[in-house]
Amino acid sequence: MQYYIITYGCQMNHSDSERIADHLEAKGIPMAESLEKADMIIVNMCSVRQASVDRVFGLSDRFRALRTAKPGLITVLTGCIVKTDKKKFDKIFDRVVEINSFADWLDSLAGVVNSETKPEAKRNTKISVGIPITTGCDNFCAYCVVPYTRGPLISRDWRIILEEVEKRVEKGAKEIWLLGQNVNNYHFDGVDFAQLIEKANAIPGDFWIRFTSPHPKDFNDAAVKAVASCVKVTPYFNLAVQSGDDTILKAMARPYTAKQYIELVDKIRQAFRECRTGIESTVALSTDVIVGFPGETEDQFLNTAALFKKIGFDMAYIARYSPRSGTAAAKLSDDVSESDKEHRFLELTKILFATSQRNNEKYVGTVLPVLVNKVFEKEGRWASGKTRSYKTVKFRLDKGIECAAGDIVNVRITEALPLGLGAKLP
Ligand code: SF4
Repeated sequence: MQYYIITYGCQMNHSDSERIADHLEAKGIPMAESLEKADMIIVNMCSVRQASVDRVFGLSDRFRALRTAKPGLITVLTGCIVKTDKKKFDKIFDRVVEINSFADWLDSLAGVVNSETKPEAKRNTKISVGIPITTGCDNFCAYCVVPYTRGPLISRDWRIILEEVEKRVEKGAKEIWLLGQNVNNYHFDGVDFAQLIEKANAIPGDFWIRFTSPHPKDFNDAAVKAVASCVKVTPYFNLAVQSGDDTILKAMARPYTAKQYIELVDKIRQAFRECRTGIESTVALSTDVIVGFPGETEDQFLNTAALFKKIGFDMAYIARYSPRSGTAAAKLSDDVSESDKEHRFLELTKILFATSQRNNEKYVGTVLPVLVNKVFEKEGRWASGKTRSYKTVKFRLDKGIECAAGDIVNVRITEALPLGLGAKLP
């Protein structure tokens, strides 16, 4: 038996797929080279946007053809599934399995599998590894399906998390992502997010710690101090603002004001300036924001634009609002026109490009470590990767210089671009 996984959506889903793959391979089930060669196809889906859901519905014809060619094929759906969609998916997939009980389901399959297959070699060592620290979410932001698809927030045992970090680092991981829908609400057996960060930072080895996603309401002083003072934590994170207008934030059920968000960013920036030196003392910030939430007026949008200018984000994931069935916001009228949503999207993009370019200029002339994720040919040999501040960097490899994905290479930053940096080997 061989498996194939198709993953849609966020890092959390990719991390879950990794864990499913590890679980299967520990049972001796290898990954197939292609969908056609697989005996079991697992789709790990995302319901955050309708387009992702439609892509899964769109697999129906493909599966029909694959089943004709291979009648014993097993198709399994897991991930973020809205309950009301489940019945429709039951018609396409042989099994629809909750992500939290996936391991149990795999174990029930193990009897069949163990009699058919032999353990295979492990897949290649991963350089960048996601480790879930929480699953689910209790926040019920008005536009979001996650609390319905993934259930309430559950924190994993910190001892298991730290063991996983240790093992991954021993195997060569250079970048550990601590993952969850609301990471800084982590609490298990008296250990909170700040303490978990301190414990992870104390693990020996040369690796970087990243985390996503924190919620502004849970970023307490202890967490600010921990992320700024623990040197393995990179000076970058995503802090979703969603809107810069207090009325819209309230309608979204985001329990903070624009002023509180700005004060939090100031506090974080101040803590990094106090705890770190050089370019490490500058935190790069990205955010998530929605334009055209039901009832959002032009003036309310302008408050978001003003916040964007004030904070000066390095990156932003800007979404045009679209209703997701089952959420509180889906009951509201989606009354902002598509052209207004588009105009607001473009306005924020314009501000982002300007602030990001300005922020990137601070890096020119510095020598920074880059975690290489790709080496490629394009009129010569090039490498690209990420700095600790999560900036994309591209640099030419001089003749005779060997470099591969997973290497950490020092480069001199030579050029600031709107969403990245140009560099050369020093
Ligand atoms: S914090 Fe809000 S947006 Fe994030 S997963 Fe929870 S409900 Fe969704």
